[in-house]
Amino acid sequence: MRELVFVEPGRVEWLDVPEPTLQGAHDALVRPIAVARCDLDLPMAAFGLFPGPFPVGHEIAAEVAAVGPAVDRFRLGDRVIVPFQVSCGSCAPCGRSVFAACATHRAPLGASFGFGVSGGGFGGGVSDLLAVPHADHLLVSAPPDITAEVLAGLSDNVADGYRAVAPGLRQRPDGDVLVIADTAGAIPLYAVLAARALDAPRIRYVDRDPVRAQIAAGFGAEVIVHTGPWPRRFEAAATVVEAAGDPDGLLCALRSTEPYGTCTTVSVSFQPVTLPLVEFYTRGITFHTSRADGRRLLPEVLDLVTSGRLDPSDVPTTVVPWDSAPDAWLTPATKLIVAR
Ligand SMILES: [Zn+2]
Ligand SMILES: [Zn+2]
Repeated sequence: MRELVFVEPGRVEWLDVPEPTLQGAHDALVRPIAVARCDLDLPMAAFGLFPGPFPVGHEIAAEVAAVGPAVDRFRLGDRVIVPFQVSCGSCAPCGRSVFAACATHRAPLGASFGFGVSGGGFGGGVSDLLAVPHADHLLVSAPPDITAEVLAGLSDNVADGYRAVAPGLRQRPDGDVLVIADTAGAIPLYAVLAARALDAPRIRYVDRDPVRAQIAAGFGAEVIVHTGPWPRRFEAAATVVEAAGDPDGLLCALRSTEPYGTCTTVSVSFQPVTLPLVEFYTRGITFHTSRADGRRLLPEVLDLVTSGRLDPSDVPTTVVPWDSAPDAWLTPATKLIVAR
């Protein structure tokens, strides 16, 4: 079969590899039909953040192609969403619905599709066939009236935007939401869409990218196009999302969080960051950093999508044919989806 492989920084290509086979009675094989590029995928492929070669793609909509004898919930041809993290559904953390902390599958970056050995050596989504363990637990049935292109992005970046605002809004439904963005990608825009879907009374959006700021304005956010270094703080909000991607942006986001408010970072800090914690001690700031737990969040995100309250395709999305994946994967776009 053919799969798209990160070979070295700046180079991804199709490789012919043996088809995966069912390894256990609870496994399934799925045929990916649409794969979205996560905001992290482009820097991973362009700069080689993690050691390759490895098959890429972890935002996956697929059709079930084979099931093991113990799989009850799925049949051939069923459309599914494949959450990007691999979890078993039966260990102690999974029993607490903390699937991203699954104790059965561990890896340096957390067990995930499309990250190579750093993600535990699972397959990538831009492939003809993908092996999925614990299918009854891990796969999520796709509602019939949602396109594969929309389904693909839900398990990671859309869920990431949602989890960055939902807990804060649950705690302070009357509070402002503030999104501070700089790094390329769609997650901060999904955060705005999620905040709007959750009836946030006021959404403010700060970005150095005027194009993305314009998009956020179209979603109803009050927008600041920021230039120069990050200020000490912006007007405080109860729910703050940091997508600035640098330590000064993170510090600004934390200082822009109201006392006893919540600041969630959707950035990945690869370098140590020094924080003046005493500033946040007296103000009781909750700071959250984690991967988005796709399997846990998907039902909540799907509810918003199927009810029409959140449409991820409102974010400008470049959909390309499957065969163009090698070139497209390294081409900047707010959101890229390869689809059959
Ligand atoms: Zn991702
Ligand atoms: Zn588990």
